[in-house]
Amino acid sequence: MKQRKIGILAMQGDFAKHEAMLKSLGVKTILVKQIHNLQGCDGLIIPGGESTTLTKLIRNYGLHEPLRKFAKRHPIMGTCAGLILVADHVDDERVEPLRLIDITALRNAYGTQIDSFITQVDMQFLKDSQPFRAVFIRAPQIQVVGDNVDVLVTLKGQPVMVRNKKILALAFHPELTDDTRIHRYFLEQF
Ligand code: GLN
Repeated sequence: MKQRKIGILAMQGDFAKHEAMLKSLGVKTILVKQIHNLQGCDGLIIPGGESTTLTKLIRNYGLHEPLRKFAKRHPIMGTCAGLILVADHVDDERVEPLRLIDITALRNAYGTQIDSFITQVDMQFLKDSQPFRAVFIRAPQIQVVGDNVDVLVTLKGQPVMVRNKKILALAFHPELTDDTRIHRYFLEQF
C-alpha cells in the first residue's frame, strides 16, 4: 500500500505533538504552512491553538478555499481550536470557520484556562472501548445540528467528539496522551 502522508496545519498551536504521535505510528507527516504544502497530503489535522489567531493566519495565507477544496476529497481531524475551525457555525464572529461539519462550536464554553481539566471519556465507538484520558483546555462545546453528524463520544451527555463522513471534530486534545487510539481511528478513515 502507498505510504500515506498526513498534513498538520502548522501555523500556530499544538501541531508538534500531533506530528510526534503520527510519527510514532510510522506515518509520514508534512507541516502545512502554505497552500503548496497541501499537495501530496492524504489527510489533514487541524490542531488546538487559538481559533481567532488561526483564522487570521489562514486568511493571510489565502488558505480558506484550498482547505475547503481539500476537505471534499480527504479526511480532516480538527481538535479543540481545530474543531472550531471545521464547524459550520461559531458563536464568535472573529472566527471564520471552514464549514465542513454541521455543528455549532461555542468557544471557551467549559470556562477559561483555570477551568481546563482532564477526565476519562468512554470510547464506545471503538472495539477497544476502554476509557480515554481526555485533556480539555479552554475547550469549545459542540451543539450538534445536522442529522448526518454522528456523536462518537460524550461527556455528561454533551457531545465531545463527532463525525460527518471523513470529518472528525474533537473538543479535547488526543495528542496530549500516550493513547494513540484516536489517531489510529483517524487513519482508518482513508
Ligand atoms: N479556546 C481556544 C479557541 O477558542 C481553543 C483552545 C485550544 O485549542 N486548546 O480557539
